[in-house]
Amino acid sequence: MVLRAAAMFDGVSSALAANPLVVIADGVIVAVEGPGAAVPPGATAIDLPGATLLPGLIDTHLHLCFDASVDPVGHLAQTDDDALRGQMSAAARRALCGGVTTVRDLGDRGYLALELRDGDAAGGADPLPTVVASGPPITTPGGHCHFLSGAASGTRGLRAAVQERAERGVDVIKVMASGGNVTQGSTAHLPQFDAEALRVIVAEAHRLGLPVTAHAHSARSIADAVAARVDGLEHVTFMTADGVDAPDALIRAIATRQIVVGWTVASHPDQRGAVFPEIASRMAALVANRRRLHEAGAMLVPGTDAGVSPAKPHEVLPYATEDLARAGLSPAEILHAMTSRAAKACGLGHRKGRIAPGFDADLIAVDGNPLDDPAAIRRLRAVYAGGRAIQPDLLGQARIEVP
Ligand SMILES: [Zn+2]
Repeated sequence: MVLRAAAMFDGVSSALAANPLVVIADGVIVAVEGPGAAVPPGATAIDLPGATLLPGLIDTHLHLCFDASVDPVGHLAQTDDDALRGQMSAAARRALCGGVTTVRDLGDRGYLALELRDGDAAGGADPLPTVVASGPPITTPGGHCHFLSGAASGTRGLRAAVQERAERGVDVIKVMASGGNVTQGSTAHLPQFDAEALRVIVAEAHRLGLPVTAHAHSARSIADAVAARVDGLEHVTFMTADGVDAPDALIRAIATRQIVVGWTVASHPDQRGAVFPEIASRMAALVANRRRLHEAGAMLVPGTDAGVSPAKPHEVLPYATEDLARAGLSPAEILHAMTSRAAKACGLGHRKGRIAPGFDADLIAVDGNPLDDPAAIRRLRAVYAGGRAIQPDLLGQARIEVP
């Protein structure tokens, strides 16, 4: 198969290439040619006149088991695993219809996201995005998201929790270093695990060859997680009891060590009032600290936390462009962050996030020039996942109902 379009952003350049011809075989990009290249004999040519090709978008942080309702936690409690499998598969397909061809699930129940990942590899009837998953996050007894059954404590218990996840085949260990917003009785600005507990988790994960990413709102937890040598941080809001506190030395350490900073971005425009009050009251300081991290050269990637509220449907990632621009990212930096850099953050830098020979044929085609206006990524013309086209009538927002 050959895709021809008017322009192409390849995931790493800062300029568009004109009149690309992308050759795809067995779900992989085998050649990328310039203007005037001939269609290889026997190939089916698909023309996308006027469109710009990009690598498929990558959401580094979502939850397929949360249904993006006003009460995702309550609904999850009432949903058995069989029903949940269907709901998660629909949520994944919905992300794909928004142009998100890879998702990293950072908290499921019963390792169901791994089933989805492995079922997809076997080739289902409908294309799904590529799934990378942590399984249930490791948390304290009664702590943030304890209802996902990932509570553990004590050196032996924490090591066992990491070992269980490794045996299950997770791609990354997720630990709830601080409290969070969706859990009753949990306080985002307070640590859950201390520095020593985080060190135990990271050491065991690294011994088993797994990266660790830490959910960390609390300023104290961010410092502890950095000291414990985590590979990634999620949210990174630097919350204290009455505001935020992001010391220069900590910002510099995060940037120098190139710890992945998973920013929570993107809200559906119809639902922008629905931000958690703990976040809304700190938003100005939060944006200022994002700018500081970006200016310090930190490795920033967008994650949405899709599923946790009505503002966060599973296809919400393309709405991250405004949040990233507000933090000082240029259009090229925004596109890099959503493609090649996000791929690297998910451990998929060798096969996702770029349009280049040897990379998976995950592509989107959009109207307009996303380097002039990144919001062009919301004007979808086509989506390909592993070379398989998504039905055009399913493209865009909210076309698949999550049961
Ligand atoms: Zn989350």
